[in-house]
Amino acid sequence: MNIGCHALVWTGEFDASGIRSAAARTRAAGFDLIEYPLMDPFVFDAAVAASAVAEHGLAVTASLGLGEATDVTSEDPVVVAAGEALLLRAVDVVAEMGGVHFCGVLYSAMKKYMQPVTARGLENSRRAISRVADHAADRGIRVSLEVVNRYETNVLNTARQALAYLEEIDRPNLGIHLDTYHMNIEESGMFAPVLDAAPHLQYVHIGESHRGYLGTGSVDFDTFFAALGRVGYDGPIVFESFSSAVVAPDLSRMLGIWRNLWADGDELGAHANAFIRGKLLAIDSLRLH
Ligand code: MN
Repeated sequence: MNIGCHALVWTGEFDASGIRSAAARTRAAGFDLIEYPLMDPFVFDAAVAASAVAEHGLAVTASLGLGEATDVTSEDPVVVAAGEALLLRAVDVVAEMGGVHFCGVLYSAMKKYMQPVTARGLENSRRAISRVADHAADRGIRVSLEVVNRYETNVLNTARQALAYLEEIDRPNLGIHLDTYHMNIEESGMFAPVLDAAPHLQYVHIGESHRGYLGTGSVDFDTFFAALGRVGYDGPIVFESFSSAVVAPDLSRMLGIWRNLWADGDELGAHANAFIRGKLLAIDSLRLH
């Protein structure tokens, strides 16, 4: 099982030096995986990332949220095609980095919608995601759809909605990505959604209710980790935290990161790594009970 960190804990700039320093600091904090945000996969330097993660012995994954001009739930075929092209390129970036996981809000734009998704928009999304999954399967990559809160998509807000979405797309490498920050807003609890999603659960984000230090907010991590243990989850578990101390302009603004919740990413990361590994260690002992 790989315990990882989202690269925005370290830097908001993903030029070559940002890519390299994020990998070095991820390793220094004790993690064994780095997740790079691919807000623009057409400019992200996959070769630099591949060499940085190899140098530090890290596994690598990538995530993104689509924008308005690339929204695959749009009813405009030009916008849907642009979204699909971006997702296909992102899959290639993951392959070029040597990764096997691609995740995030891939099935719609990541934004506050002012109306529900339309039947046609949902169909466009499913068609694009099917082709992205097939493209990824050819490269040995799993695609995981992140379930996020109502202010960030109108398509998948709960694990059971994700199951319904997947029912109509039968792809063995396509699965569900749960995030404790979003679950804490939308789900009825932290145990049942993990059990429901388990057969398709491929990726996990660990975030606190205010997106700051783990254990200082209202997320019930004990129940969530107990659920992961109960279903025998062994995929990536990736820490995600955002503060106005580190800003990637598009992503930070979309996520509403207006406050400074921490100043030192290295201290924060080391704390999160110890927090996650401590929970997993304790839960593992339940096998003996
Ligand atoms: Mn997340």
